[in-house]
Amino acid sequence: MNTASTTVPATITLGAALGPWECIVVGAGPAGAATSLRLARGGVRVLLVDRGFMPRGKVCGCCLSPAALGELAQLALPGFRAGAVVPLRLDTLALSYGGSTARVAFRGGGVLSRETLDAGIVEAAVAAGVDWLPGVDVVSVKTRDGEPVSVTMRSAADGTVATIGATRCVLATGLADRVRGATEEHAIEARRGPGTPGKRCLIGVGTALPADCVDLPPGELRMTVGRRGYCGLVRLEDGRIDVAAAIDRAALREGGGATQALLAVLGRTSIAVGPRLAEALRAARFTATPPLTRRSPPSSEGGRILRVGDAAAYVEPFTGEGIGWALAGARIAANTILEGAGVASVGEAYAGAHRRHFVAPHARCRRVTSWLQSPALVSAAVASARIAPGIAARIVPLVTGAGGRGGRP
Ligand SMILES: Cc1cc2nc3c(=O)[nH]c(=O)nc-3n(C[C@H](O)[C@H](O)[C@H](O)COP(=O)(O)OP(=O)(O)OC[C@H]3O[C@@H](n4cnc5c(N)ncnc54)[C@H](O)[C@@H]3O)c2cc1C
Repeated sequence: MNTASTTVPATITLGAALGPWECIVVGAGPAGAATSLRLARGGVRVLLVDRGFMPRGKVCGCCLSPAALGELAQLALPGFRAGAVVPLRLDTLALSYGGSTARVAFRGGGVLSRETLDAGIVEAAVAAGVDWLPGVDVVSVKTRDGEPVSVTMRSAADGTVATIGATRCVLATGLADRVRGATEEHAIEARRGPGTPGKRCLIGVGTALPADCVDLPPGELRMTVGRRGYCGLVRLEDGRIDVAAAIDRAALREGGGATQALLAVLGRTSIAVGPRLAEALRAARFTATPPLTRRSPPSSEGGRILRVGDAAAYVEPFTGEGIGWALAGARIAANTILEGAGVASVGEAYAGAHRRHFVAPHARCRRVTSWLQSPALVSAAVASARIAPGIAARIVPLVTGAGGRGGRP
């Protein structure tokens, strides 16, 4: 498996990719790569396209929930099976608010950089027969009256544009999804919440810092909650420190950028931001995401276009479930496609299964993130966890969905 240093080579060029394909999957994050892997293992001819290359970083806390680890085990990635890649064990949650920190034991989670994880799933997909086309931006996906899908893409290298046909298209384009289809404007970009005046709108911000910028033991997630957002620090398998934060858009603007906004969130914690961490944050290059909440129809155009992962729905990252949700969505989409006889029934079946699986965990996550907006509640939670860390350790899985109530398997 890729260990974040070698590029996963393309298996096809844009000029040679002219279909028709049974399925074109757009986006090679966990949702898209796992969907294509499962489809290929089921005998489907798949083209997997991404505007980027693998490995690549992504704004993410890099924590794998127990559900994510379960989905990864089901995928039986060669590198995991061979023991070449072993996620670090996540065993402690240090939760800070307003100068106070509680340390709580955390069971069943892992940590793995997105470079290693995402590239590893793409490599497994290629090994299963998926054609991999990186460096290509999909600009539109169109279909009419139940006809096959036309996917128009542009090469980042030379600007070549090609339109390729497929029976079906899976959009796994994440939060930054800007793909549009002429017949389904209503289905695209139907985001919830962000931009509404007076409403909180969080943006994801992330970077990776040098290993020696902070004393943070492997296996500890240091999560700081502030009034304008929250930030997680964790040590990756290669020693680097992953920084991922969800910060109010207004705070980013007012604070003069990511570093100041992050220091404002972290500065209130009792785990002091030492000079090395502050210096590393000032020197860092940050990546930002679009607003963190979205919901789009999982299926449109009678099931010719399916959406998986963040592209279908995303709540907020605090509970660290996005990767597990993306992998579960991939499983549900691939199984529905493989089992579905007719295009129309695939769309309905997938939308229904998506709803059944995700409505409850998304609602739980929304509840948790609304609690975060109450300083009294967060402060009381941290104080209680300090007094009774054993009880807190039993409650944490219920809050984060790690207690088995996060949705149907
Ligand atoms: C601050 C923050 C912290 C987080 N922490 C955690 C955590 O600790 N644990 C966890 O489980 N989850 C976490 N998440 C959530 C997690 O990162 C996402 O849920 C997960 O990456 C979703 O996977 P995906 O495959 O749907 O999308 P992505 O991983 O975003 O992949 C989408 C891919 O689509 C490609 N793409 C997009 N548009 C196009 C196009 N037009 N043409 C071609 N390619 C395209 C992109 O290049 C990208 O590679 C966090 C998120 C944020 C913002």
